[in-house]
Amino acid sequence: MTSTRAQTVLRSNFHLGSQSEKTSPRRVLGTRNCIKVVRMIDLHLHSDRSDGTLPPAELVARVAQAGVDTLALTDHDSTDGLAEAGTAALERGLRLVPGVEVSASWRNQPIHVLGLWIDPEAPVLRAALAGQAERRHERMRMICARLSERGLPGARWLAAVEARTALPTRTHLAEAIVAEGLAGDTGDAFRKFLGRGAVAQAAGLWPPLAEVIGWILGAGGLASLAHPMRYPLSAGARRRLLAEFAAAGGGAIEVVTGANAAHQIETCAALAGAHGLAGTVGSDFHDPKHAWNPLGRLAKLPPGVTPAWGLRETRGTCGWDG
Ligand SMILES: [Zn+2]
Ligand SMILES: [Zn+2]
Repeated sequence: MTSTRAQTVLRSNFHLGSQSEKTSPRRVLGTRNCIKVVRMIDLHLHSDRSDGTLPPAELVARVAQAGVDTLALTDHDSTDGLAEAGTAALERGLRLVPGVEVSASWRNQPIHVLGLWIDPEAPVLRAALAGQAERRHERMRMICARLSERGLPGARWLAAVEARTALPTRTHLAEAIVAEGLAGDTGDAFRKFLGRGAVAQAAGLWPPLAEVIGWILGAGGLASLAHPMRYPLSAGARRRLLAEFAAAGGGAIEVVTGANAAHQIETCAALAGAHGLAGTVGSDFHDPKHAWNPLGRLAKLPPGVTPAWGLRETRGTCGWDG
């Protein structure tokens, strides 16, 4: 596919006209008399262009099998998979929301911000993501140097990660550690070496939250705070995070994620209401082997939360026909 063709697919394939309907599919009349049964929306998915395991086209195929018909590909600091995902979505009659998950820093806490409905070609975003890739390489070198100081083969693991991906994540490093038998699985590798309090914990060198939100807005996107309950923050700190996020132009929070319990969804819904933010839903799916995070099993957005997709202009509900 040429880049022009890819952009045509992306631009024509990311509009939403309806809300998620998990339990009672409904039919929606599009602007071109196209009828589509809307069942499920998932606005947080990873492919192998960051730390997911599936190529974008295969991810889209699985998303379709799971009954999801509107998806956002949101790889970490990368939009490289969007063209392939856009083509696959078009072929299967799915709508693709162009997305990205950008790493930011707030009071020394790494924060993930989803950029949804972005223009991946926007110069401000392209330049920003190039900088993020460089930060990721720098962070990986720093982590591996710490591992080497502890007598571990950090240099060899660094080489393995760098050979495998242009966008190194700690998951890639965890997999290299598992491959050498020093951890049972990636979770074990994080506990032993990479996670909070472990020998090679590295918070990252991420740019301030407001700057990241600015990149997303500069690319025409909506900034949604990813998995708000996953950060180790007190309730008060979380409220301050949300207040600053909204003040900087953040537009939504991820009210429903794959790992959220019912009471956490309620908390996120209340935070959305308190800070005037819309809500998004997303599984944060990475790997079909992660049985705790399957595709197609997201709860509905609670009533009273404004769906982020309702804020977006609907230029056509038959996005796949270009
Ligand atoms: Zn995340
Ligand atoms: Zn994610």
